[in-house]
Amino acid sequence: MNNLYKDFGISDEVFKYTQGICNNLKERFEKIDEIAELNQLKVLKAMQKNCVAENCMNGTTGYGYDDKGRDTLERVYADIFHTEDALVRAQITCGTHALALALMSNLRPGDELLSPVGKPYDTLEEVIGIRESKGSLKEYGITYAQVDLLADGSFDYDNIKKAINERTKLVTIQRSKGYQTRPTLSVSRIKELIEFVKSVKPDIICMVDNCYGEFVETIEPSDVGADMTVGSLIKNPGGGLAPLGGYIVGKKECIENAAYRLTSPGLGREVGASLNVNKDFYEGIFLAPTVVASALKGAIFAANVYEKAGFSCVPNSTESRHDIIQAVTLNSAEGLIAFCQGIQSASPVDSHVAPYPWDMPGYDSQVIMAAGTFVSGASIELSADGPLKEPYAVYFQGGLTFPHVKYGIIKSFQAMYDKGLVEIPLNSL
Ligand SMILES: *Cc1c(COP(=O)(O)O)cnc(C)c1O
Repeated sequence: MNNLYKDFGISDEVFKYTQGICNNLKERFEKIDEIAELNQLKVLKAMQKNCVAENCMNGTTGYGYDDKGRDTLERVYADIFHTEDALVRAQITCGTHALALALMSNLRPGDELLSPVGKPYDTLEEVIGIRESKGSLKEYGITYAQVDLLADGSFDYDNIKKAINERTKLVTIQRSKGYQTRPTLSVSRIKELIEFVKSVKPDIICMVDNCYGEFVETIEPSDVGADMTVGSLIKNPGGGLAPLGGYIVGKKECIENAAYRLTSPGLGREVGASLNVNKDFYEGIFLAPTVVASALKGAIFAANVYEKAGFSCVPNSTESRHDIIQAVTLNSAEGLIAFCQGIQSASPVDSHVAPYPWDMPGYDSQVIMAAGTFVSGASIELSADGPLKEPYAVYFQGGLTFPHVKYGIIKSFQAMYDKGLVEIPLNSL
């Protein structure tokens, strides 16, 4: 093994340090494998119950009437998430689109949207109209209220209660921290929040942004009272195979509203050809539990490698996990660049190119992004990025197989080591 890694440019010291860390994580990895096992059986059961057949892998063209593969897949999703209904479509272009669709189809002029967990994911700011944008909810006369988490990360129940009024129609709860520093919400904390909101006003629609959270635990927000649970197929549930798409699972009425908004009033879910994506969607959701487990193991491995070398990590090396994102504060621009270039050079695709920081629309500093992925931009595949500003934190996520994420992290560490930006703790050699 040592010689093989040497061929890949990994020095003896880095190999020994990282291998030692990996060996100490066996017990934690076993727990992750148990979760994957439960989720694998849950997915398999839903596929068998709905009699997924060979002809479900075929697609349709044109209007897409009677697309058996598409319609059966939606029942499979509904059974996995234990919901009345599901909309799983190639025509939902990404996670932001799925969330925007869920919001715009279930809110009407005069309604109010409430986020009781602070500022939502960046791209939703324009959907809601927090930042002015064409076609925002705000333009349609839908107002927005927000209650931040308390300093210790807990829910501000008093102010949530005060914020709920007769116009409050929908509450949006983001499970993953995204690119913020607050902790990611566990499903059981989401349960508490939903129960509280419904105790104040029972008919509020509770929507959960489930991006990066699917299959990290054995239950999903839809198991604890969420009326809509929403995510992207180029993240967890696509298993790395879905080339595009998004999903909404939940109450029949909410899904119906979303279907009529996605296509057209009158047409709804009856149209929307699946072309050639059905097989990838099925195979992707089938593989997703173990792919998510690989990504989680990689994130935990990274937190341990970097924390023991003196860098601050969120989540830290021992914390329980509720999404697949790992943040590491690298303290310098050189560190951030070396880390991302290391990840890129470990990729199966585009390993021969080096990423550099660049100006990007929507950001107030330069950003560096590393991704050598089969599906463009797929963040269930190993990828890393970070803004070139204090404290020079890198956010990385994904990895289709654990051996690959492990190698990627070792390579990033080696890249920093070669530049003298990290030291290996002496007691670990
Ligand atoms: C990725 C993400 C989104 C948006 O998804 P895109 O597919 O990038 O549009 C929304 N919310 C959270 C928490 C995410 O992680």
